[in-house]
Amino acid sequence: MLNKDLFYKTIEKFDISVDDEAFNRLDKYAEMLIETNKSFNLTAIKEPDDVTVKHFADCLAIFKYVEIPENAKIIDVGTGAGFPGLVLKLFRPDIQMTFLDSTKKKLGFIENVLNECGVSGEILHMRAEEAAQLSKYREKFDFATARAVAALPVLSEYCLPFVKVGGTFISMKSAESNEEISEGKKAISILGGNIQEDIVFDLVENMPRRIIKIKKNSQTPTKYPRPSAQISKKPIK
Ligand code: SAM
Repeated sequence: MLNKDLFYKTIEKFDISVDDEAFNRLDKYAEMLIETNKSFNLTAIKEPDDVTVKHFADCLAIFKYVEIPENAKIIDVGTGAGFPGLVLKLFRPDIQMTFLDSTKKKLGFIENVLNECGVSGEILHMRAEEAAQLSKYREKFDFATARAVAALPVLSEYCLPFVKVGGTFISMKSAESNEEISEGKKAISILGGNIQEDIVFDLVENMPRRIIKIKKNSQTPTKYPRPSAQISKKPIK
């Protein structure tokens, strides 16, 4: 479960108000994460205080820096055990969230949490580069989010094709990702986007984090995303 005092203290600066109902949903998720993690490896972050800050507060920081309209359609690419997508959804159930991952077991865990919390979401067991070539998903989302999935040149090819023109790809990165970000600029531009804002902030003292907001300005050329092998062998740089 979450460390409640630490949770509220850490998110104080995000200008969001987490009411009791939302807190209880997030707390249930944390409890299930810690419990399930004992028998199935969902996350390397295991201690309640670390889970509180490095998973839950970390993901909620998005709300400070990105305005997410009511009923926004979001795809969380490489969601794993649900970060940031499930935190966003449990805080704001109005969001229409799609949880995408190529690992089925982790998606099963997300489904259990959604059921337990009485909240719905779309579970998508596919590789990003395959799903983004389907008309059902291509350029259909107001936002794509991703944390700890791939370096920016590759990640942009996974994520930008999902985003509508006018929408935003929110990439959560470590603060020390300057090189990766410069390397990603060409891919972002070819895929129809540009970096709108690059925000570095302290999650807690001496724990810097980065949120990159990438605006989608024009349609992604249909040849992207390419098949997996080509993306990894020859990232756009
Ligand atoms: N986003 C979560 C987080 O921050 O805790 C999970 C991060 S985990 C290190 C990376 C996840 O991305 C894994 O669950 C993996 O299966 C998924 N992943 C990597 N490449 C993918 C792809 N091309 N399509 C779908 N999922 C992918």
